[in-house]
Amino acid sequence: MKPGSWCSCGRCSKEKPWRTLDLFKEAKSAVDLTQAPLIVAIGRGIKAPENIPQAEALAKALGGEIAASRPICDEGWLPMERQIGSSGQTVAPKLYLALGISGAIQHVVGMKGARTIVAINKDSNAPIFEIADYGVVGDIFEIMPALTEALEKAKTS
Ligand SMILES: Cc1cc2nc3c(=O)[nH]c(=O)nc-3n(C[C@H](O)[C@H](O)[C@H](O)COP(=O)(O)OP(=O)(O)OC[C@H]3O[C@@H](n4cnc5c(N)ncnc54)[C@H](O)[C@@H]3O)c2cc1C
Repeated sequence: MKPGSWCSCGRCSKEKPWRTLDLFKEAKSAVDLTQAPLIVAIGRGIKAPENIPQAEALAKALGGEIAASRPICDEGWLPMERQIGSSGQTVAPKLYLALGISGAIQHVVGMKGARTIVAINKDSNAPIFEIADYGVVGDIFEIMPALTEALEKAKTS
């Protein structure tokens, strides 16, 4: 059944459509990124949904929340509630780690209030570096797993 359509099982009445339950489920799983102290945000540099677990592993190792630029949410790779920017959430974490995000103004307005911004981008001219406190020119696919591994090692030693 498609979201927004009406149940035709015969047991549901028009007064009690399945859609109500679906919305309830969504609200229950909603995340409030405005309160997150640490955010790991991914952009189009992540390239494919299969790569998102690498960023999620890094977020977990840091104890942070995963978020994204609009194209990632538009593609349905992450839910809309995780979108940062003018048409998403406005956040102010202690640390905002931007992975493969160019730094378009519509994104920046949603995260420029972060206390510390760390950006990793393979393009040294990416606008995100203009607002980053720390910038790394490099490939996120090399840096994400190395950083996650180093954090995990540090935890166990
Ligand atoms: C009305 C309107 C509202 C909008 N609202 C929002 C909003 O709320 N939030 C939002 O984010 N956008 C919003 N946008 C879209 C915004 O203009 C940009 O298009 C979007 O932010 C770009 O997302 P991005 O940085 O992920 O992608 P891109 O601009 O494509 O940047 C991808 C970056 O990844 C880097 N990269 C690629 N591969 C690698 C790699 N292997 N390692 C490291 N770096 C790599 C590239 O160098 C590039 O800088 C809005 C646009 C409009 C018109």
